[in-house]
Amino acid sequence: MVSEDTIVAISTPPGRGGLGVVRLSGVRAIEIATRLIKLPKLPIETQRATLGAFAPVESGRVLDQVVVTCFRAPHSYTAEDVVEISCHGAPIILRYLEECCLAQGARAAEPGEFTLRAFLNGRMDLTQAEAVRDLIESQTLYQARVAAQQLGGSVSTRLKPHKQVLLDLIARLEAGIDFAEDDVAVIGWPEILTRLDRISADLERLVEGYEYGRIVREGLTLAIVGRPNVGKSSLFNRLLNEERAIVTPIPGTTRDLVAETANLGGIPLRFVDTAGVREALDEVEKIGVARTFSAIADSDLRLLVVDASEPWTEDDTLLLEKLRPLGALLVALNKSDLPPQVTDVAPGFSPAHAALKGGATLPGDAARFGQADLDTGIPAPQIVRTSALTGEGIHELKEKILALAAPARDAGPEGEFITNLRHQQLIKNSLAGLAKAHQAAEQRMHHEMLLLDLYDALRPLDLITGATYADDVLDIIFKTFCVGK
Ligand code: GDP
Repeated sequence: MVSEDTIVAISTPPGRGGLGVVRLSGVRAIEIATRLIKLPKLPIETQRATLGAFAPVESGRVLDQVVVTCFRAPHSYTAEDVVEISCHGAPIILRYLEECCLAQGARAAEPGEFTLRAFLNGRMDLTQAEAVRDLIESQTLYQARVAAQQLGGSVSTRLKPHKQVLLDLIARLEAGIDFAEDDVAVIGWPEILTRLDRISADLERLVEGYEYGRIVREGLTLAIVGRPNVGKSSLFNRLLNEERAIVTPIPGTTRDLVAETANLGGIPLRFVDTAGVREALDEVEKIGVARTFSAIADSDLRLLVVDASEPWTEDDTLLLEKLRPLGALLVALNKSDLPPQVTDVAPGFSPAHAALKGGATLPGDAARFGQADLDTGIPAPQIVRTSALTGEGIHELKEKILALAAPARDAGPEGEFITNLRHQQLIKNSLAGLAKAHQAAEQRMHHEMLLLDLYDALRPLDLITGATYADDVLDIIFKTFCVGK
């Protein structure tokens, strides 16, 4: 499929730079480029950088020295003729060159249109086109590696064998129906069930892996919670290695939420430093506390900061109670550089004692929140001794954050999980089709019913990678069964 029109766009980001690239794609790309750029010889050589001069048609005067690279269809990104003109990165020149291309009959490209053309021309499937976007948007090298794997087709590669099995089943069943009198070997029920279960098991794994994939792609949010003055802002700064939140010795000053993103083991982690939680004294502070609680609820992970140099307080217990039901929790026993204070609230279980014993337990009332909740499956909080002042325990805290945030981190290579919600939902749809097919097979339903379910399982996978046509099914029927004699 070849588009009628030739598109043009400035492909480098806006602003001034050493270089700026204008890209053309389409049947007239080479013609338009050679009208605007003076080249040493024509026709322009392909797959090679050629020095030229940008000399607008009307004046003929040279505006910039450029390097032109021409890729002839189908050996280009879009599978069309593509010309990349690398100018000096002056926005005025780039815009003017783009205008000249438009005047010569090119059309301004829509966002993502080069990649869209690559997809429409069969250069890449949908998962790869989506990976191009993820790669461009990646903030950490780890994200980029994952996107690059998917650009290489890792998602499709993972799904392809399953699609093949489904197609094969469909083909055999279709053959059994259409050519019943031809004595086609139709597969037995147990074998059908085995094959369906194998696909389901792998698709389930992919769906489960999405939780981690989403985190890799989008990053996650850690809310830092605690009484005023326990050292939340200081810890926040330590974790970011920067001075961002305001640190003061007066309680209740961090009224607003401060959010910053840091790269933690390749995963973008947004730290949200929340307003000190206590009985609010004035209106402004009340708003701050209300915001704190919505930030806590919205975050993926929570870090409760406790001042280990002071006795454990009721407020700490209240916070712990509020946080526990929300899921995985980290507790930092901060100010561990100061002498630990013995508490009479819960003798023998002061935060300081707990810290000295290796941070295994929480004090008094809090102890019951310090254990895993067997009913809800919420794990025990992870307790770390820290000092925002000296940096003690910060590394361990980061490790624990990562372990909680991304437990599947070491589970497999970059390409072994999906990062895209669209993919996850389609795989779930496919699983629903497989479950129905499984049921139909168990109940020995008519093949035609089973086929409907198999198509329901196959179609979503097609939508992930690109379409399967009826031709494919026919092709397999005739190739594998030699029907027709
Ligand atoms: P927040 O209100 O919880 O955000 O607490 P801040 O981060 O503003 O810290 C309150 C006070 O405690 C400041 O004077 C900090 O310098 C001090 N502080 C924070 N962390 C530590 C620590 O680990 N050790 C010591 N000795 N002081 C700390």
